[in-house]
Amino acid sequence: MHDQTWDTAERRALRETVRRFTEREILPHLTDWEEAGALPRSLHRTAADAGLLGIGFPETAGGVGGDPVDTLTVAEEMILAGGSSGLVAGLFTHGIGLPHLIAAGDQSLIERFARPVLAGEAIVSLAVTEPEAGSDVAGLCTRAVADGDDYVVTGTKLFITSATRADVFTTAVRTGDDGAGGLSLLMIERDRPGVEVSAPLKKMGWWCSDTAEIRFDAVRVPAGNLIGSPGSGFGQIMQQFAAERLSIAVQAYATAQRCLDLSLDHVRVRETFGRPLASRQVVRHRVAEMARQTDVARTYTRAVIERWRAGDDVLREVAMAKNTAVFACDAVVDDAVQLHGGMGYMRETEVERHYRDSRILGIGGGTNEIMTEVVSRLLLA
Ligand SMILES: Cc1cc2nc3c(=O)[nH]c(=O)nc-3n(C[C@H](O)[C@H](O)[C@H](O)COP(=O)(O)OP(=O)(O)OC[C@H]3O[C@@H](n4cnc5c(N)ncnc54)[C@H](O)[C@@H]3O)c2cc1C
Repeated sequence: MHDQTWDTAERRALRETVRRFTEREILPHLTDWEEAGALPRSLHRTAADAGLLGIGFPETAGGVGGDPVDTLTVAEEMILAGGSSGLVAGLFTHGIGLPHLIAAGDQSLIERFARPVLAGEAIVSLAVTEPEAGSDVAGLCTRAVADGDDYVVTGTKLFITSATRADVFTTAVRTGDDGAGGLSLLMIERDRPGVEVSAPLKKMGWWCSDTAEIRFDAVRVPAGNLIGSPGSGFGQIMQQFAAERLSIAVQAYATAQRCLDLSLDHVRVRETFGRPLASRQVVRHRVAEMARQTDVARTYTRAVIERWRAGDDVLREVAMAKNTAVFACDAVVDDAVQLHGGMGYMRETEVERHYRDSRILGIGGGTNEIMTEVVSRLLLA
C-alpha cells in the first residue's frame, strides 16, 4: 500500500523533475535569495512553466491536477535536493492561500485570483494571524463592516508569509459577532486604497521567505470578494488546516532526512585524532538515532496522509503527525550541527540554515502546544 502510493513510476518521475528543477533553478541562487530576504517573482513563473506550481490544483482553476501526495512529494523532494522549508514556504504560499477559494467553487473568483497565481503571474498570501490573535483564531478582530455592496475592512495582520510580494490576501475578517461564527474569508487586493504592507520582518530563519505586517485602514472591498457565505470563515480555515499541518510535517521529516544525509557524508570524511568520525561508536550511534527518528516521523506522517486522503477522520492523527515530525526534526537538526562541529555553526554550511529554518515548524500552522491540546480534546471528548 505504502509503495503503491509514494513510489509509483509517476511519482519517481515527478521527484526527478523536482530534483533537476531545484538543482538548475534554485541551488545556484538560494544563498543570494536568503541574503536578499525574498524569492524573485520570476521564480514563480519558472516553476509554473515547469509544471510544479499548479500540482495538486484542478485544471479548472489553472492547476495541472494531481492529488495531495503529489503536492507533498514536490515539497519533500525540493528539501531533499538541497532546498529548504523557507523556500517551500515562499514559493508555495498559494498552498495555504488558495485552497479555501477553490473549495468554495466560485468560478469567477477562481478566474480572477487563482488562475494568475497558478500561472506564476501573481502571488497570494493567507492573512489570518493578528498581533492579539495567533493560536486563538476565533479571537481575531479585523473587522469587515457591510456598507452597500462593499465591506469596509479595518485591522492588522501579523507574520504574513509572502506579504511584501503578494498581490492579493486571503484574509480572515470578522463580519459578524464575537467568536468563531462571526468570521469570514475575503479576498483583498493589495492595490486597494488603505492597504499598507510593512517592510520585511527580520527573522531567525526562513530568510528567503518574506514575512510582513499588513494594515487595513478602512479598505473598501466588494462583497463579491467574499469566499463562501458570511460567517463560514472559521469552518473554512479549520477544514484547510489538516493540509497545512501535514505539509509542515512533511517539511519537518524531509529537513531531518536532508540533515541526516549531510551528516553521514560529513562523518565519513572528517578525521579527528587520525581517524574518521564515522569510526567512533558515539558518532555511529548518534547517526543511527537520527535515522530512527527520521524514519518514524516519515512513516507515521505518510500513513496519516494516506488515511486523510482516503477521507478518514484523522484530525487527531494529523496533530500527532505534526508534533512527531517536528520533534524528530528539532532533534536531528541539532545533532547535525553538533556533528559538523564549528563548521556546523558557519553560514556556509547547509545544516546551519536548516537548524534556523526548522525552528518555525513547531510554531506555524498551530504550535506544538495547540497540537497537543487538539489531541487531548479529541481523546477526552
Ligand atoms: C515566519 C512565520 C510565518 C508565518 N506565516 C503566517 C501566514 O502566512 N499567515 C498567517 O495567518 N500566520 C502566519 N504566521 C503566524 C503563526 O501561525 C502564529 O505565529 C502561530 O499560530 C502562533 O500564534 P502566536 O504567534 O500569536 O503565538 P501565541 O498564540 O501567542 O502563543 C504563544 C505561546 O503560547 C502557547 N499557547 C497559546 N495558547 C495556549 C493554550 N491555550 N494552552 C497552552 N499554551 C498555549 C503557544 O503554543 C506558544 O508557545 C507565521 C508566523 C511566523 C513566525
